[in-house]
Amino acid sequence: MFLKILLMGPPGAGKGSQSARLVEDYALTNISTGQMFREAYRRGEPLGEKAMAYIKKGELVADDITNEVVRQRLMKKDADRCFLLDGYPRTVEQARALDEMLEKRRSKLSAVINIVVDKQAILERMVGRRVCRTCGLSYHLVFKPTKKPSMCDACGGELYQRNDDRPESVRNRLDIYEKKTKPIIDYYHGRGILKNIDGMQSFENVYRDIRDALETLT
Ligand code: AMP
Repeated sequence: MFLKILLMGPPGAGKGSQSARLVEDYALTNISTGQMFREAYRRGEPLGEKAMAYIKKGELVADDITNEVVRQRLMKKDADRCFLLDGYPRTVEQARALDEMLEKRRSKLSAVINIVVDKQAILERMVGRRVCRTCGLSYHLVFKPTKKPSMCDACGGELYQRNDDRPESVRNRLDIYEKKTKPIIDYYHGRGILKNIDGMQSFENVYRDIRDALETLT
């Protein structure tokens, strides 16, 4: 079976860490719009500049820009069979656009994994999050520390705190999530592909529950 997974949950629910593990264990192509925007910005591409203007203001990047980035990404060969979408769709309009893209390819999502957590926990988690400048892997000062301080275990790159992980930005992102992204859960509800996962557990237990949910599909 070709797994096409959408990983959802508020900012700070641990999507990045869970997706890294899923991508490895199930050999999925990771499609993270946030990461694509940051990479485009680092490479000095016009798309990156455009996207960063929204990101710096703590806003969502416009739907038409985001949908186009994903449309092009899905056309690449490595997204043909198995992929994991992380951070997309983030609005109902994006969810509709994704459905259209997949329908054109006679394809559809296998599962929508929704990681459920509470707001206070999210604030704590996000303020401690650090990301590798080189390979983009996520760590946490308390929950997922690196072996050596400020150095990525995987590639030795330097760790940094994303501007949008600062407390005032986190609150703003949570508000945006409630207003714009949460309605997507209703959009997928009723199709029988929505799997709610309790995100208030250890990383390992959350991962185990996601795996269990995926096993019911295969
Ligand atoms: P992330 O790495 O997924 O937390 O994304 C970082 C930032 O990129 C978000 O706060 C948004 O500003 C922007 N972004 C990422 N994905 C999307 C999306 N699907 N729609 C709109 N903006 C996005």
